[in-house]
Order: sequence, then structure tokens, then C-alpha cells
Amino acid sequence: MDIRAVEAARLVDRLGRLVRSGESRQGINPAQWEALRFLARANRFSRTPAALADYLVSTRGTVSQTLIALESKGLVLRRQSSRDGRSVELELTPAGLEMLEDDPLIELARDLGKGSSDDGLTSTVEVLRDALRRALQRNGSRPFGVCQNCRYFRKNASGRGKHHCALIDEPLSERESDLICSEQQPA
Ligand code: SF4
Repeated sequence: MDIRAVEAARLVDRLGRLVRSGESRQGINPAQWEALRFLARANRFSRTPAALADYLVSTRGTVSQTLIALESKGLVLRRQSSRDGRSVELELTPAGLEMLEDDPLIELARDLGKGSSDDGLTSTVEVLRDALRRALQRNGSRPFGVCQNCRYFRKNASGRGKHHCALIDEPLSERESDLICSEQQPA
């Protein structure tokens, strides 16, 4: 085993612990922060309790408790799906969006940016993405990748900036092309 890879794994683990300890100071526990981050990044097909549970590699029961806590804090709204009346859609409230402006993860992002050259940061992101891809494969988890990198993404199918999903047969806006999706399959 390459000793540098072992050291990198230790650093990722320690940084994760430090970020999580900062999260608890704001009255929002780590699982609640992860749910807020997911809802800010997920597209409209993926903002559901089931997709959130898959993304967090958690159980539906645990995620349900997390969502109840976030709703009671006024950070998340739950409503009937407009596409399927039997499903539930989740949405961040304005207070939930505001809370994310103080996300403790931003401090880590700043530290990473300060300590790296442009090329170094790009290489770091590539190495971490590759490690994540391997971990997801081993775990049998869905990738939750970005829409525009999906095999079903049809760029500008209905005009400039008006994209289309060939799997769900729904239009996609420019903004949605940058969001993550529970159905994403790498192109
Ligand atoms: S194109 Fe892929 S990622 Fe985008 S909405 Fe469709 S299935 Fe999801």
C-alpha cells in the first residue's frame, strides 16, 4: 500500500470529523446538514425522502426523523408531488437556503482553496472523484452525478438552453443541467 494514499485517507477522515464537530455547534446535526446540502443540489425528480436515504446511505426511518426535525425548524417543506400524487416532494424554505450560507463545509472549501494551486486543486478533485466512484461501485450505490454528464441528457433538444431528459421525457432548464439526480447514469 502506498504510504501517501494511507496518509491521504487519514486526512480525509480527520477533516470530516472536524467539519462535523463544527456542524453541531449551530444546532443542526451532521445528518441534518447533509440533508440540507442534498436538497440544495438535487433536481426536482430527486428531492424525495427515498432518494435522500439512498444518497446518505441511510435507512428510510432515520431519514424520516431527520426530515421531521428540519421541518420543525422551518428549514424544509414537504408536499405532495405534482407528478405523482402518491409521492412526496421536499423543498428548502427561504430559511433553509439562508442556513446554507453558513454551512461549515464552506470553511473547509476555503482552506483547501488557500493551500492549493489551480492545478493542484484540479488534481485533488480528480483523485477524490475517482476514489468516490470506486467506493460507490464497491457499495453498489447510485452515483448521483450531475445531469449534464448523464447518458439520457439531450443538450439543447428544444432550443438553446432548453434541454431534455430522454429517460423521464421531461424538459430540463439550464440550471437543472447542473443539479444532481438519483437516476443519473454516467455518459
Ligand atoms: S438526464 Fe439523467 S440526470 Fe438528468 S434528469 Fe434525466 S435521468 Fe436524471
